[in-house]
Amino acid sequence: MKINFTQLILFSFLLCSSQSFSQEVSLNAVGGEYNFNENRTQCLTDEQREEVLNDIKSNISLLKSQNRLIHNEAQKRAPTTLFSWPVKMKDGAPYNDVWAISNYVDHNPEFPNQLLDYNCGAKTYDTNDGYNHMGVDIYTWPFSWKMMDNDEAEIVAAAPGQIIAIGRTQFDRSCTFNSNTWNAVYVQHADGSVALYGHMKKDSPTSKNIGDTVERGEYLGIVGSSGNSTGPHLHFEVYSEVELNGVGQDVLVDPYAGNCNNMNTDSWWQNQKPYVNTNINAVLTHSAPPVFPTCPDQETTNEKNAFAPGEKVHLAVYLRDQLAGTTIDLEVLRPNGTIYNDWDYNLVDNYSSSYWYWIITAPSLPGEWTWRATYQGQIVDHKFTVGTLSVEDSNFDNVSIYPNPFNDVVNIQSNSHIKKVSLVDILGKTVMTKTNDIESIKEINLESLSKGLYFLRLEGVNNEQKTIKLIKE
Ligand SMILES: [Zn+2]
Repeated sequence: MKINFTQLILFSFLLCSSQSFSQEVSLNAVGGEYNFNENRTQCLTDEQREEVLNDIKSNISLLKSQNRLIHNEAQKRAPTTLFSWPVKMKDGAPYNDVWAISNYVDHNPEFPNQLLDYNCGAKTYDTNDGYNHMGVDIYTWPFSWKMMDNDEAEIVAAAPGQIIAIGRTQFDRSCTFNSNTWNAVYVQHADGSVALYGHMKKDSPTSKNIGDTVERGEYLGIVGSSGNSTGPHLHFEVYSEVELNGVGQDVLVDPYAGNCNNMNTDSWWQNQKPYVNTNINAVLTHSAPPVFPTCPDQETTNEKNAFAPGEKVHLAVYLRDQLAGTTIDLEVLRPNGTIYNDWDYNLVDNYSSSYWYWIITAPSLPGEWTWRATYQGQIVDHKFTVGTLSVEDSNFDNVSIYPNPFNDVVNIQSNSHIKKVSLVDILGKTVMTKTNDIESIKEINLESLSKGLYFLRLEGVNNEQKTIKLIKE
């Protein structure tokens, strides 16, 4: 895996504010393609696939002999099973989406480099020794390794079914073809079809066991890089049936319907996603450019959301399936919502994943600012703060807090008597309180606090309240 800084495009534009403020600004767009899976490796070797399928079959036979198999042979054959999307962003993760696609099923049996995906494109791979890719590779973007380490990209059941095999304990930071075994969950659906969810993070697979059922959308594991893998991704492989005791056969399907799918005509998706599925995966602010190190080290993302006036702010966008000839619209909005900066950026290449960033100096106006990207009709906002910020007010005027950001002592200036102050961290835990019924509280010493964002709550003698965001640097 490697990052190409393929483009360094310099441009300048005229900045026009909504008011009387106008000046010429020069911004350099830096970034380019994020190239996943440069070394295409066989997600599962032939021997491993045989082992996996044998394992699946013996477990199915066992469950059947115990009368625990949910597969009802009387039921109509596939595709009665329709899939929902198998990758889900963990709730609360700071992104807009977490995935992109590197490879589909290869429908051209010839090799090497005889490639044909369901849509008659070449977004697939084969190998010199005759392997044609048999699944869909869904990789995580941006920050694959960070997402893996923080469990931010979950693999969920694409359809309800029964766990028929599971592997949990294998090494999960593969970068090359190493013949390692993957961690995976294998699910059989009621129509007998089977889905393989491979390359999971070590110890992440569900604690459920063989024979247990899973619901649609239920957690199965975390996107990882176990087995033959060049970085965190899900290999999703589907069989409409598997041979059992000499009956039937292993029939691979491509869940995508398309003109060049020569395995099956129907789509197996509830809502098949478009072949080119343009999306803004993230809009972020950083203290410095994100660093994508050598596999398998975690990225240094340099994410930062609170800035002092004059600090450098790196404004970044992370795209999936950027389209040549399209334009991304970029804006920085003031706390009151008016436009501070507005410019366009023309995309000149097709990339499965890419990122671009621009650098501005944090303005002097304090408050909560918005970094906004608009692309192909999609608008994604990211908030960042500059300097002091009042979060909520209630009849508590003339209060000022300084300095903010602070190092040790915070001064409180107020016309009314402040009888109580308390400090709450971002998890909602109160880390300090101070009360004084005689005199108004004028300062607090917060030297021992660790760096970060806090909320300072002030209470007056007449029960007025005010909350202010405080940043410890
Ligand atoms: Zn794969």
